[in-house]
Amino acid sequence: MIIKDEQGKTDILSLTYPELEEMMTALGEKKFRASQVYEWLHVKRVDGFDKMTNLSAQLRGRLDGVFCIKSLFIVKRLESRTDNTLKYLYRLSDGNHVEAVVMDYNHGTTICISTQVGCKMGCNFCASTIAGFRRNLLPSEMLMQIYTAERDSGRKISGAVLMGIGEPLDNYDNVVCFLSLLSGEKGMNMSLRHVSLSTCGVVPRIYDLAKLKLGLTLSISLHASNDKIRDSIMPVNHRYKINELLAACKDYFQTTGRRISFEYALIDGVNDKEENARELYELLKGFVCHVNIIPVNKIKERNYTSDRKSAQRFKERLCELGLNATVRRTLGADINAACGQLRREYEI
Ligand code: SAH
Repeated sequence: MIIKDEQGKTDILSLTYPELEEMMTALGEKKFRASQVYEWLHVKRVDGFDKMTNLSAQLRGRLDGVFCIKSLFIVKRLESRTDNTLKYLYRLSDGNHVEAVVMDYNHGTTICISTQVGCKMGCNFCASTIAGFRRNLLPSEMLMQIYTAERDSGRKISGAVLMGIGEPLDNYDNVVCFLSLLSGEKGMNMSLRHVSLSTCGVVPRIYDLAKLKLGLTLSISLHASNDKIRDSIMPVNHRYKINELLAACKDYFQTTGRRISFEYALIDGVNDKEENARELYELLKGFVCHVNIIPVNKIKERNYTSDRKSAQRFKERLCELGLNATVRRTLGADINAACGQLRREYEI
């Protein structure tokens, strides 16, 4: 995607390989130069044109005049004492901050990345939305959360979840571009089967995403078994009701063949009763899906609570009824790196 900065320089890390090739050709360069530059950026991951030593000094100078290379600065790095989870607070080139979390699973290392600076969605149990919305992240800024974490941690990241700060489907074009950079053969070459995108339910964009047939897993932050409860905790539900959301999910499954994952943050006294389990069953029966129960994580602005035991009980009830449910493992809670605990503020 062609994005220019204030000085009119093109954000080179947001360009797909064909786009870079086209721009290099327009500059009068041979195609193989694009391949060399792409490799410097996405494989060797240098942060300056001066380091691209197989290019002439003259070409390096020219590139520097036309393109900029976005980089992220690690302001803070927290390592969990209970598991291997790492949380990064990154400063973007304009001074804004976002967070990303690196998690080790049996099958490999996965990163949870942010897609926006802040969030507009207003879910009332989530820290990411409390300080409001600043701006969308660029494709390069999403990619650099991964490259920077890999470099710093020395871990090879094999999967990504778009479950950090922000609503990915509210930054649709940049997210789709980022996914193509991430899975590009000449770049990170990550299979989108190892990628999950989570949404609070921006219905029209779910239909759009289905048409792309990207092979990624769609996670839906459902969190309620009826519209009354969902209205009270998730403002997006005023716009798109549960039945509209589920119709979009059905379409997503029919178009892509990919099973949907529903997230359900269990909150004591809000959505944890027997009738909620039954309603959830009625909503989801017959759906090829998986329900992930998350005991709601603490954020300092709210009194919501839950624990693993009640999550386990709720899960068992759903399984008895016939749904496919699990309790999500909580990683990084001691460093505020768990679901809904990420925020854009710079807190010392
Ligand atoms: N905006 C997207 C991406 C964020 S993903 C979305 O809503 O899906 C972060 C996940 O954590 C979402 O499922 C979100 O609803 C959930 N979450 C937010 N706050 C939480 C909390 N306090 N405890 C548990 N899960 C929470």
